Amino acid sequence: MKTTREFSLFLLLAPFCWLAISPQLNARPLANLPSVEASSSDSSLPNSKSPEPAAPESGSIREVIDDRYKVRYQTWKNEFLSTDIGRAQWEMYAHHPRLVLTITIAETNPNGAATGRYKWNSNGELIAATIVLGRQVDQGYPSSVYYPVMNALEPFESKQLIGGSVLAATKIAHEFGHVMKISGTPESLYRLQVQLVPVYNKIFLSNGYNTSDPRLVELAQKMGGNPVEIWEDREYWGEANAMLFLRDRVAKERFHCKLFNKIKRTVEEYAKGYEERFAEIAKSQGASYSCSWR
Ligand SMILES: [Zn+2]
Repeated sequence: MKTTREFSLFLLLAPFCWLAISPQLNARPLANLPSVEASSSDSSLPNSKSPEPAAPESGSIREVIDDRYKVRYQTWKNEFLSTDIGRAQWEMYAHHPRLVLTITIAETNPNGAATGRYKWNSNGELIAATIVLGRQVDQGYPSSVYYPVMNALEPFESKQLIGGSVLAATKIAHEFGHVMKISGTPESLYRLQVQLVPVYNKIFLSNGYNTSDPRLVELAQKMGGNPVEIWEDREYWGEANAMLFLRDRVAKERFHCKLFNKIKRTVEEYAKGYEERFAEIAKSQGASYSCSWR
């Protein structure tokens, strides 16, 4: 069964977006099932020394970067801002009417990144989110199964066609994709998923991995999918935004179509049900850069 296979596949994946694994499941490696990202009260995000923003009236980007990492962070940020889409998204959050987006660098999970600490106001609007970048986010390529865009860069770096800062900026774009997606997710649905995913996982582990169990079918209906479906949908939205960044970043590079064709092949192999969101971005390249993605 596809879902069971996906659960098994998940066991093989390095936790690129490590907030996607709840602390409880981390403590039980055999129960390494997807969970939803931690809630704003979750303690698995590294502690920031800066205080949380208090009920902001207008949004901004707070960059909480340790002195040790300021030079590398600026390089990654400059790379992100070298594209039209990177500048547009940065400006959107820098002058956002409500949302305070905190960006910081953590010691843990050096090659990964995560987004969490979400807060909503009483109108149900997202007012806070935190992106945590690994201190070596310019290295390391996550699995092609759930990260078809970031993974596709690997051969181009080994051929010295791109540098690590492009990889880092692509990871930043992936996390921005998470923020944008969660901005459009009702708080009630997010809270429901945080609450029900552990319940689902517990039953799944005790019923012989039977996803047809009526209890699991009902839980999946309530929260809009089983834990893998919820998790992969979020990751593929992150990847779609990463692709949007790369569309601009490599538009004038000779290997442009090679990169996009590699993404296309991986999406067709592992993410067929999500192909449309990637195809739309590929089609938006403009006539002069149209590759074979149709
Ligand atoms: Zn992610």
